[in-house]
Amino acid sequence: MSTTAKKRIVIVGLGAVGAMAAWRLSDRPDVEVIGVEQYGRVHEHGSYAGESRVFRTAYHEGGRYVPMLQESRQLWRELESASGRELYLEVGALSIAQADRIEMRTTLDTVREYSLPHTLYDTDELRRAYPQHAVHDGDVGVLDHHGGGIRSEVALLSALELAERAGAELRFNSPVLAIEEEPGGVVVRTPAEAIRADAVIVASGSWSTRLDTRLHDLLRLQVLGLTWFLPQRIDAFLPERFPAFLRDVGPVHFFGVPTLDGYSVKACSNPTWPVARDVSEVPTAYTRAELVKIGQQAQEFFPALNPEPVRSSVHHCAYTPDRTPVVDLSDSGRVAIVTGLSGHGFKFAPVLGEWAAHLAATGERGDVDEHFALAAHLERLEQRGAYGGGGH
Ligand SMILES: Cc1cc2nc3c(=O)[nH]c(=O)nc-3n(C[C@H](O)[C@H](O)[C@H](O)COP(=O)(O)OP(=O)(O)OC[C@H]3O[C@@H](n4cnc5c(N)ncnc54)[C@H](O)[C@@H]3O)c2cc1C
Repeated sequence: MSTTAKKRIVIVGLGAVGAMAAWRLSDRPDVEVIGVEQYGRVHEHGSYAGESRVFRTAYHEGGRYVPMLQESRQLWRELESASGRELYLEVGALSIAQADRIEMRTTLDTVREYSLPHTLYDTDELRRAYPQHAVHDGDVGVLDHHGGGIRSEVALLSALELAERAGAELRFNSPVLAIEEEPGGVVVRTPAEAIRADAVIVASGSWSTRLDTRLHDLLRLQVLGLTWFLPQRIDAFLPERFPAFLRDVGPVHFFGVPTLDGYSVKACSNPTWPVARDVSEVPTAYTRAELVKIGQQAQEFFPALNPEPVRSSVHHCAYTPDRTPVVDLSDSGRVAIVTGLSGHGFKFAPVLGEWAAHLAATGERGDVDEHFALAAHLERLEQRGAYGGGGH
């Protein structure tokens, strides 16, 4: 319930979606923004943590995402120029797989359907162009020229900074315990206070089921790990020579980005960790055996990498069964929720932030894809039920 002419919007969670929503709301002079985050500013527990994220527009997850990715690319650029920081390295994203593999076929479908700038490589061309990769017989490659890497934590820091500069009030170390709709407004409860708002954006990622019981059946937490390796020579893995990459061989999905720290290369694959229902069930580190196995895989894909990871970290992300995000608005038009980014949503977080800002500021769904509405998800869940996994 606003006491001023401005509409008060509270954002719960200042991770990828929350930070982008705060930034996108800063263009609207008619709103007052309060952001509430359970940890500090850009912490290590969020699904965005771990240096970087792969960005790509040639998208095997489907053409539905391509316009979102193209718009996000513009917004990443805008964030970069407004913040004066290097956030988005457009070094290309190289997908390598056997030509008949489903991920490769659907990637090529989106490339053709949307005329995305790209280069195709047959096996010999791949070996010549990218000697860092151990290319298997029958492998082909597609380089998405608009792909690359995003410095995820620095991007969040930048978005929050710009939001604050535009007047947003950000409160850290302040866990939200409950969100209650009441006539004429919404109350957001923390241990210290009850914040009254005209509208709320719930952007609480992996913790969303704790705040909204309707998500219990829909969301699961997938455990995802990151590993960095030392190459024999770092020059071959610099951004100008080594694009972000995705490789799919049998059940193994390997992904990574060029060196961003000047000495190590991020190259990751995931053991088949069981899905979790709550963050408290997620392991905090790899086992020794898991690290040894990932090191062996890394050396199989990149013979010049030393197989012992120099760094590793274990994270989690909220997944829906079909890996499409939830973007919903309550019947009252006051509570917008964006979650379930399913291991691949960082790249289009700016668009999700824009949508969340629109939903909360207008109370109307507008052009937001109905496929992402909670009711549509629950209907699909009933028909389908199984979890896909995957990411990036
Ligand atoms: C290891 C890994 C690798 C990935 N790789 C890629 C990739 O290469 N490309 C890509 O596009 N995507 C990738 N993803 C997916 C992407 O990073 C996530 O989907 C995205 O960060 C999720 O954003 P979010 O805002 O929903 O959650 P988060 O970014 O986790 O933000 C949620 C925030 O809400 C806060 N919060 C939660 N509950 C409360 C509460 N009660 N009160 C206050 N605050 C609260 C949390 O502390 C957190 O800060 C990856 C994910 C992981 C884990």
